[in-house]
Formats: sequence, C-alpha cells, structure tokens
Amino acid sequence: MTVSTTNGRVLIVGATGFIGRFVAEASLDAGRPTYVLVRPSSGNHSKTKVAKALQDRGAILLNGLANDKELMVKLLKEHHIEVVISAVGGEKILDQLSLVEAIASAGTVKRFLPSEFGHDVDRADPVEPGLQMYKEKRQVRRLVEKLGIPYTYICCNSIASWPYYDNRHPSEVIPPLDQFQIYGDGSVKAYFVAGTDIGKFTMKTVDDVRTVNKSVHFRPPCNFYNMNELAALWERKIRRTLPRATITENDLLSVAAENRLPQSIVASFTHDIFIKGCQVNFAIHGPDETEVSSLYPNEPFRTLDECFNDFLQKVEDENTKQSDEIPAPKPVVEALAITATCA
Ligand code: NDP
Repeated sequence: MTVSTTNGRVLIVGATGFIGRFVAEASLDAGRPTYVLVRPSSGNHSKTKVAKALQDRGAILLNGLANDKELMVKLLKEHHIEVVISAVGGEKILDQLSLVEAIASAGTVKRFLPSEFGHDVDRADPVEPGLQMYKEKRQVRRLVEKLGIPYTYICCNSIASWPYYDNRHPSEVIPPLDQFQIYGDGSVKAYFVAGTDIGKFTMKTVDDVRTVNKSVHFRPPCNFYNMNELAALWERKIRRTLPRATITENDLLSVAAENRLPQSIVASFTHDIFIKGCQVNFAIHGPDETEVSSLYPNEPFRTLDECFNDFLQKVEDENTKQSDEIPAPKPVVEALAITATCA
C-alpha cells in the first residue's frame, strides 16, 4: 500500500528540546525539507549548539515563538509549510493554542502533530500534578478538532531507559549500578521506545493516509517489559546482581503530592504506568486509533536490549576514562552482546 503521498515541507517546533531533536533528525534522515522554529536566543549554549548542528545537516532555521500567532501565520504561508510537528515542553503546552489558530488561518498545513509523545491523554487519568498537563494537552486536542485541522496524536509510551521516577529525561541517565528501585511488586508492564524510533516512526505517520485524525500508539512487542524484567536485563549486561528496594504506591503518591516540578509530574506518571497499568489496561480497536507496528510491520524497532548495550558502553567508556586517571581500576562490566532488532 502506498502511504506516503508528498514530500512537503515540515516545520518542527521545539527541535532543540529532548524529543524534538529526535524528530528533527528523523525528518532530515528521511530527506524531508525540514524547517526548525528557534526561540529568540536565550543565551543557552547547548540549545544554540543543537540548532547549529541541525542547520549543518540541512535544516532551515526560522526565528520565532509558537505563541506569536501573527508571525506563525506569516512563516507558515511564506515557507509553504505542509506539516507542523510540535514538541514544546510540558510547561509550554498551552503556547500551542495560538499555533493551532495560526495553522487554521494559514491554510497551508495538511497535518499537525501537537506535543503529545506519551500516553493517550483522553484515556489516561494520572494523579496531580500530571493530570494538569494532560488537561492542557486535551485542550489543545479539542481546539485542533474544532478548527478541523488534520492531525495525528503520537502516543509513544515510555522512552527506552531505566524509568527513574524523578527524572523527566531518564534516557539521559544510565540504569542503576548500586541498587534498583522497583515500583510496587514490579510486575506491571510498559512499552519502551528508543528516542530515535520515536523520531523515525513519527515521521512515517506525517503523510500516511491511515493516520489522519488518529491516535497512533507505539506498542513494539519486543520492548514490553515490567520492572523486574528490566532489572534482570540490566543485570545480564553488567554481569552482576544488584539489591532491590521497593518504592510503594504510597511513596510515589507522596512525591507527586509534594508538587515539586518537574519531579512530581514524573512521579504521577510513574504511578500511572507501573502501579495502575495505564499503558496496558486497554485494547486499541477504536475507529480513531491505530498501532504503529501494524502500520509498518517490516520496519524494525531498536530493542531495549540494544539500548541497554548503549548504556553499558557509556559505563565502559567511563571506566576507561577513570583507568586513564587512576592506575589499575577494577572493570565493572564486560563486553557487549550483539542482539537482533525487532520488527
Ligand atoms: P523540552 O523542554 O526538552 O523542549 C521543549 C522545546 O520546545 C525546546 O526546544 C524549547 O525551546 C521549545 N519551546 C518551548 N516553548 C516554545 C515556544 N513558545 N515557541 C517555540 N519553541 C518553544 O521538552 P520535552 O522534549 O521534554 O517534551 C516534549 C514533549 O514530549 C512533551 O509533550 C512531553 O510531555 C513529551 N515527553 C515524553 C517523554 C516520554 O518518555 N514519552 C519524555 C519527555 C517528554 P528552547 O530550546 O528555546 O527552550
């Protein structure tokens, strides 16, 4: 079935952020004409570096704010943007309301992907303060639908990593080397997706006729793990066992109730995933939803096993660095295992 109909221009909002960068890189990998909206300089060196790296790969940088409606209408029209993908951060979700209005006014955009990249916010019901973010994401959804803008909602579940309950970007941190913190009895399963695959599969949906006005759920069967299985996988990599401490449901609810941002939001989502089972307590069969592996059955996902090999490599690199500085340290880990990808 031919699913890609155009190679239209893509504008990515939030490309200097954690998720947005994966999407922007995937757009460039796919050979799409890629535009990146960059906020006026905040003096943040690492963000400037990311924007420059994307530009070096061929992205066209546009300066502006997503919530500047007038400017956004102008940019969308001037550059004939056909696809807009937003990956603004959790605290800026409502900035998208002006962007949505701009998209409706400009009339060039054939698909909009709002900043979702997590769970189905109409279905999941985390405790506060996570719920507030979902209410805001729902508000954006309702405006998109009211204005009749063709959309796709990406529900990509968890990023492939150890799911630390107090870190909003856990894939930037290596899994534990001293002790595991296991949520509840560790038996509730979740889906883990590599950041590069979030980008790759997001880009596949943007002009796929089968994903118009649908939520696309990412449920790669090879990456379906509970906490106990995740701990065992990491123990096989580092070739030793680690002690386990239990983080109870009440522990997670207490951290959520502290209302410290962003940690409390992450704790509320962790509770929703690993205690309540929000990723697995429903089947995907509604007319407005589809599953990504069934859309692209021949396209492999990176396995969690492979992603954990990357973390292992980082540990080894760190050990090597230390051994250059301190004589004869004892290596913590051994050689990488080679594993297959899963389709
Ligand atoms: P980040 O905070 O890392 O990045 C946000 C990006 O949006 C930055 O590039 C920022 O620009 C840009 N931005 C913010 N406001 C504006 C604006 N008004 N105009 C233009 N650009 C703007 O966000 P995350 O990557 O953490 O989050 C993105 C989405 O992904 C969220 O919906 C979040 O809930 C979800 N998420 C999902 C995860 C998962 O495991 N499934 C993990 C993390 C996030 P600047 O560089 O100038 O700051």
